[in-house]
Amino acid sequence: MPSSFNLPTSFFRAVSNGAYTFCHWFQPLASSGVRHGQSGQVYNKMLKFDRKTNEIGYDFDGGDLIKGETDGSSYPNGGLRATHTAGGYLAIDPSSPIFLRDEVIHIPAVFVSYYGMALDEKTPLLRSNDAMSKEGTRLLKHLGLETSGLKANIGLEQEIFLIPRDQLYRRPDLQFTGRTVMGKLAPRDQEMCDHYMAPLSTATAALGCMKEIQDQCFKMGIPLKTRHREVAPAQFEFAPYFGVNNVQIDQNLVVMQVIEEVAAKHGLAALLQEKPFDGINGSGKHNNWSISTNEGIQLFVPKDLNEACSNKFAFPVVMAAVVAALDEHGDLMRMSIASPGNDFRLGACEAPPAILSTYLGDDMTAYLDALRNGNLDEYKPNTKTIDVGIDSIKPFTVPAEDRNRTSPFPYGGARFEFRAVGSSQNVSMVNTVLSIICAQKFAEFADKIEAGEEPLEVAKDALNKHWKVIFNGNGYDEGNQKMLTEAGVWRIDSGVEAIATLTSEKNVALFEQMKVLTSKEMSARQDVLHDHYTGTVVMEAGTMVDMINQHVLPSLSKAGLTAQDAELESAVKTLKAALHEIEEAETSYEMASLARILRLETMVEIRKLCDAAEEIVPADLWTLATYKELLFLDSHTVV
Ligand code: ADP
Ligand code: MG
Repeated sequence: MPSSFNLPTSFFRAVSNGAYTFCHWFQPLASSGVRHGQSGQVYNKMLKFDRKTNEIGYDFDGGDLIKGETDGSSYPNGGLRATHTAGGYLAIDPSSPIFLRDEVIHIPAVFVSYYGMALDEKTPLLRSNDAMSKEGTRLLKHLGLETSGLKANIGLEQEIFLIPRDQLYRRPDLQFTGRTVMGKLAPRDQEMCDHYMAPLSTATAALGCMKEIQDQCFKMGIPLKTRHREVAPAQFEFAPYFGVNNVQIDQNLVVMQVIEEVAAKHGLAALLQEKPFDGINGSGKHNNWSISTNEGIQLFVPKDLNEACSNKFAFPVVMAAVVAALDEHGDLMRMSIASPGNDFRLGACEAPPAILSTYLGDDMTAYLDALRNGNLDEYKPNTKTIDVGIDSIKPFTVPAEDRNRTSPFPYGGARFEFRAVGSSQNVSMVNTVLSIICAQKFAEFADKIEAGEEPLEVAKDALNKHWKVIFNGNGYDEGNQKMLTEAGVWRIDSGVEAIATLTSEKNVALFEQMKVLTSKEMSARQDVLHDHYTGTVVMEAGTMVDMINQHVLPSLSKAGLTAQDAELESAVKTLKAALHEIEEAETSYEMASLARILRLETMVEIRKLCDAAEEIVPADLWTLATYKELLFLDSHTVV
């Protein structure tokens, strides 16, 4: 046993549970998609040799706990570390629990350069949380509530696909990139919505797999409360109890890692990518989000906040600040969800455009509308009664608000739900943005109040100025989309362009003002995100070339079908030329812009040729796993 007396008790508990290794566990930039677990770590055995006796003994002390050093200029860093200035430091994030997996104690840590610059996902998140807490505390004081600080709480719904592992090995695209770059839709997909919330069949491995994922997570202190089947065939979802954002993000990374590992044990492969299959639903990670005081007062629950503040207008002031933040910084919200896989779910192909409006519900909207027009009253959420017309089932009450699944950011009574987030994302940037934009508006409101303005007047002004961002209608309707776009609600269809907004004047000023990232850190981050996008597309296009040459063409030839050959051969040339052009481009932004065209235009067209070939080749001569083989666990039982 270690003798050091200043270690936390959890450490001793870990050792008595068999731990003999530790690591600082951190979150390098741009890890979604391919890096298993999306984390970085080097395992160190907690041992040393005694100088005098040569005996082996435990070695781990408080110093080891709070700080680590690592090399690693090989992580994406956007030029913040060259190979000759490669020092990187890991400092414990004391607000996130240390956890034990197998024999390894994992210490959640931030990862910064020798000069203190953020090289990871966690550092800006923690900085933005501090800013939100500081400015929100200031504002609440003016509304009647003294608090020791604020925290952002999130609950992340994680959608995934589970497919037979043996079929994964018959799909180079899924293996390398997590999505199918070709593949004809099966005759059955989700036309009957029969998969949604259907029982997990005992005839497939998915049930045992889901249970074991929940068990393993539970043992690490991660309560995955909900599990169910999602809309697409072979699609599933987990949701945990919500909690403080940085802890939830750490836990979500572990959840994703556990999902992948447990799936393999059950003969399955988990696909976390946002759009593994064309023609059926993709996967998201709904970021349910709210703010509370350290003492537990929920800011988005009108009654709780007003009571705690002894001020019946505290809630609308806070709500006005959030509405203003969303309207002003929809570009950053869009940027935060611009992961490569999310491209197909946002503003591209058949996806709805990426317009960042918010649904508040008719009840809340009517209240705020009356308020901004001088009708001062306290908000009282309405309820309504449902009578199902059955004697034995008594009428029951429900909130007056419905749900709107077409809004990217609906309010639901106690929380907002950022629905457009991608399933494979580390959602640190998403929550950094939510915290920082609120921090700025809380600060702005507090400044005005301190300068003598009435809180309600500040709220009314903000509501009037930013009213356009509130939209309760059907967001999938084209007429509505046009209306919102013309009204000037942030709309950025291209993820590459969304990433490029990181370094706009407005956003650099915001991040610097709130001390979350310097302009240098932001440029670096922007490059990293663009490079991550390009890297993804380069892998996808390269895989497509191989699949055409090694599968599609030979299958056609075996079937005695040669009519398509010329077109497919020229498609390969087109892909190679496009890859070459990307390689030659000067900047990260130019490369990513070209990559986007290659992916969303060129590859989409070429895919059609491949899918047409699949349609005519006899099944026994088609060497790639088909959508039928990939997506229907129920009819392809894993032995
Ligand atoms: P839905 O019906 O919206 O799909 P789920 O139960 O699948 O609901 O997921 C909702 C998620 O939101 C859960 O992770 C839950 O813990 C979380 N959640 C609930 N209330 C809050 C809140 N006030 N703040 C943040 N997250 C919340
Ligand atoms: Mg859900």
